[in-house]
Amino acid sequence: MPRLVNARVEYEVKLGRLPTLTEKETHYCPGCEHGTLTRLIASTLDKLNLREKTVLVDSVGCSVFAHDYINTDAVQAPHGRAPAVMAGIKRVRPDLVVFAVQGDGDAVSIGLLELVNAANRGEPVTIFLVNNAIYGMTGGQMAPTTPAGMVTTTSPYGRDVSYTGQPLDASRLLASLDAPSYVRRVVLPLEPIRDTGLYSARGSLECLKVVENAFRVQLMGGFSFVEVVSTCNINWKMSVLESKKYAWEVLAKTFPPGVYKDKFGVEKV
Ligand code: SF4
Repeated sequence: MPRLVNARVEYEVKLGRLPTLTEKETHYCPGCEHGTLTRLIASTLDKLNLREKTVLVDSVGCSVFAHDYINTDAVQAPHGRAPAVMAGIKRVRPDLVVFAVQGDGDAVSIGLLELVNAANRGEPVTIFLVNNAIYGMTGGQMAPTTPAGMVTTTSPYGRDVSYTGQPLDASRLLASLDAPSYVRRVVLPLEPIRDTGLYSARGSLECLKVVENAFRVQLMGGFSFVEVVSTCNINWKMSVLESKKYAWEVLAKTFPPGVYKDKFGVEKV
């Protein structure tokens, strides 16, 4: 049995397997935050006892197989169209909890129209945007969220914002609308602790609370949006630890974490 599988089995034996996590090994690259977010979502659905009434809408991107790992009902949306599919499900079955995990290429590029309009209508659904500043699944092309100067396969000399525009800030854009109830950004990667060589997991703990807030807002009838600043060490062509450092030193400054909208005051609870 491979070492990583052994490690997972030992972990599950100690902490207990989450009912909402399947036993399938994920296809995510080692060090990628997609796997972490999957666990945080599953853990929250179990805590709130929502698994039997939840529908996951799969987007197109690295999270396209999320239904293989999260044990809820699921529907596959066309590229970028997850918010429209979510709205349709929720309007027909308002008793269900509906959520999607989208990448920045899916949500902020091809699907921006669906995202903005679902938010503007205040559809009571939950969207998790995994922003790693790049197209992960297709090989590391520049995305609308790529920071100025970042090297990608389609910006080999670094992103030139005088030609391609500034990085698109989805959280600030959605928070400028009246209808959304909860807009929140977190930085999920391990955070380097200065001059120690150690890393803090406080981003995961904060993200767990934010994921729960997002589902609670949907249960209260509001649109909730969580932008999860993440890494893609494979396409950034960095080691796992270098990518964590880059996420905090560059991405977190381009996309500052914080509460952008909280109509129901869930952050204060
Ligand atoms: S390609 Fe990037 S975003 Fe996709 S699973 Fe691998 S590290 Fe994660």
